[in-house]
Amino acid sequence: MIALTHTRGQTWAVFGLARSGLATAQALVAGGAEVRLWDDNEASRAAAEAAGFRATPLDDAALAGCAGLALAPGVPLTHPMPHQVVANAHRAGVPVLGDIELLLRELKPVVYGVTGTNGKSTTTALLAHVLSATGRNIALGGNIGTPVLALPRHAAGEGVYVLEMSSYQLDLTPGWQAKIAILLNITPDHLDRHGTLENYAAIKARIFAGQGSGDTAVIGVDDDHCRAIHAELVRKNTGRKIVPVSIARILNDGVSAVDGKVYDNGREVFALDFPALPGAHNGQNIACVYAAARAAGLDVATIRAGIASFLGLKHRLQRVGMVDGIPCINDSKATNADSTAKALASFETIYWIAGGKAKEGGIASLRPFFPRIRHASLIGEAAKDFAVTLGDAVSHTLCGTLDKALDDALAVARREKLKGAVVLLSPACASFDQFKSFEYRGDEFIRLVGERGGLNEQGAAA
Ligand code: ADP
Repeated sequence: MIALTHTRGQTWAVFGLARSGLATAQALVAGGAEVRLWDDNEASRAAAEAAGFRATPLDDAALAGCAGLALAPGVPLTHPMPHQVVANAHRAGVPVLGDIELLLRELKPVVYGVTGTNGKSTTTALLAHVLSATGRNIALGGNIGTPVLALPRHAAGEGVYVLEMSSYQLDLTPGWQAKIAILLNITPDHLDRHGTLENYAAIKARIFAGQGSGDTAVIGVDDDHCRAIHAELVRKNTGRKIVPVSIARILNDGVSAVDGKVYDNGREVFALDFPALPGAHNGQNIACVYAAARAAGLDVATIRAGIASFLGLKHRLQRVGMVDGIPCINDSKATNADSTAKALASFETIYWIAGGKAKEGGIASLRPFFPRIRHASLIGEAAKDFAVTLGDAVSHTLCGTLDKALDDALAVARREKLKGAVVLLSPACASFDQFKSFEYRGDEFIRLVGERGGLNEQGAAA
């Protein structure tokens, strides 16, 4: 834990007591601050009380005299409208910020940050993994894994914090400054929380805030918003190094991942031959990590070896194991058609397990990938609708449950014996009709694959 010693003697309010909020309260108390905390959710308050805190509603009286309000990133700051506690803090003149701001104020650490609409977790974990392989002292956190204030405290000048930054977290970190910052891509997402796409893009662009000479900005330039941000970085010319990244074309002045190869300033550096990171979208993640790791001083061979030893993240195109020589892939995180499109684009011959609680729009947008699907084994509430969309184009079975779907997919795959075929769970649906969360769904898939003799070496290690 990182005790927030700079808050000694102050009073702080903490709102939102899920994991990061509770860790913040503990870090404040450990640093010598007095804490007033609250959560609208009774179970979260109970958890805080079990950890020794006493919950107090954060009304005007409770906020009076507070040095700041530490807000959990899930609580609306601006859109659709500020949460009542934010309005109360504004009225009381109490600054509102998040746990990452407190970390920066406490340690003034070296930070590498990653943001973007898609691929944040994969890229952040991959970057931390590649850097760790060099024996550097690396702490990984933020929007992924451990809340930042529960990470180990690096001594001044030692170690690096590699942080995944959601736009909510960037919004709550006014002092954000990263020695190396990555912006992967920007597509419409979370507009409920940020209003317009322009506002969302402006918040994402803050990943590069405060950078100057000695710092590096790595930025995907394959979408309009990121291209505009790249142009603005170039125009501002603060002395930082700017590395554009593309998976659409080979850049002469940047990093590219095109046609199965990574290029650095137009020169091929290595092949994209990483089974744990399939697909063009992972090419973007890999290229950004390559650019960042180069900026951190790693040589090409070390970076390649680091990427090759990465096992991938759980539930994201995770190679769970082989059953009778057929790789089984867990992409339970794909809860909508867009994510599933990335998965279907990653393999040529697919026995597809899909369905669950349907999302608007169904799977019509996946039609271009239908020729890759040898057979679909459908589960959950959405199965019938999916079957209608698949129609005569893709052979399919209504299986009901995940276990039956896995057996169905394996049976067809065994019969057809096609080279390079995979069984792919990429549901294009939420899980709530049958599972508590996409994690439970993915864990059940891992268990079922193991039960059928799958070598779940990677599943266990993920
Ligand atoms: P995030 O943390 O931003 O949600 P993840 O790394 O967890 O991203 O990946 C989630 C899903 O997003 C993946 O399963 C994949 O479908 C998709 N994805 C990953 N990387 C990219 C990328 N660079 N571009 C587009 N989609 C991606």
